[in-house]
Amino acid sequence: MNADTSPRELDAAWGNVHPVHCKNCRAGFLIPANAGAPVCPNCLAARLEPLPALEADAPPELVIPFSVSDATLDANLERWRRDIPFRSPSLNVSALRANLKRFFIPMYLADASAFGTWHAQMGFDYLVASSEERFDGSGWVTQRLNETRVRWEPRAGELTRKYENVSAPALEQHARMMLALGASNWREPPFDTSRSIRFSADALNGAIVRVPDIAPNAAWQFARAQIERVAARECETASGAQHHEQFSLRAAYGEPHWTLLLLPMSVTHYIGDDGKFIPVRVNGQSGFVSGIKRASMQRARNWTIVIALVALLAFFLTALLGIAGALNDAFVIPALLVLLATFFLCLAAPAPLIAAWQFNRQNAEK
Ligand SMILES: [Zn+2]
Repeated sequence: MNADTSPRELDAAWGNVHPVHCKNCRAGFLIPANAGAPVCPNCLAARLEPLPALEADAPPELVIPFSVSDATLDANLERWRRDIPFRSPSLNVSALRANLKRFFIPMYLADASAFGTWHAQMGFDYLVASSEERFDGSGWVTQRLNETRVRWEPRAGELTRKYENVSAPALEQHARMMLALGASNWREPPFDTSRSIRFSADALNGAIVRVPDIAPNAAWQFARAQIERVAARECETASGAQHHEQFSLRAAYGEPHWTLLLLPMSVTHYIGDDGKFIPVRVNGQSGFVSGIKRASMQRARNWTIVIALVALLAFFLTALLGIAGALNDAFVIPALLVLLATFFLCLAAPAPLIAAWQFNRQNAEK
């Protein structure tokens, strides 16, 4: 529990919400008073059940509102599902849209003071003028070139500074979630935090909030690494350098103050052959869509059966034409053509099953 926030203050900070949890995946949430018992937006496999007390250590401070337009959302869902062969009937944009549930995932924000010394190799760009002799077909020409090189120099200094709103993971699954929401590097959340607003109960707009499952103490090492990255860039700028290497900071830190930043996320699902929900996740700000892509083996099998039935019919037709061909030569060529068609249909029959199996293997959860 944060030293400067009592449990009662924490409750008041959140407004009228109730703590609940999922017995299946153990994720904890805060839900609005009138939300009933919604399905767990984390695993989609159980309903959320009430908890006696709130298990969060930090009050909410900032919220990034949901801001994807319906048109962008539809287009992104359509693009995401388009390359899935033999799609389950539930894998269409209107069903995905209808099942969409909004919730917020937390990230810690730390305010901390740092006092210490740093040293690093700072790199300074400089221009070198050189010339290059080049044969242009009729004679040699001299071409002047300006080349940028980097001069490295050791630098050191002192640092006394307060860092505010340094972000750090609040969930064990944080890295995986950031990648699922469109990050190329999990350390950089795929959200424009400059568009965040102050937390208020209204800002949640009835959405569920996931509560942290990492304690602030455990998140501190990430916040400190983030502070070191920011400090390295600041020292580089202060030195008038353009590059830095081997930055090291020996610092003491004041007791950090922890709050939460809430990131918007939606989850929807389609239904697999086994009847289980397969989640599809959407970044509530950028509209980035991700999820496991699975072809329906049932649909592929139906196609295989249809092709096999047509092959069987073609086989009977071949037999009939063969008998007719024995009586009249005019039927021999058609009989051979239908035989050839039968042969290709037999080859094609297992293709849907093989294609679906291969697609699912390539897109299996890593
Ligand atoms: Zn769950």
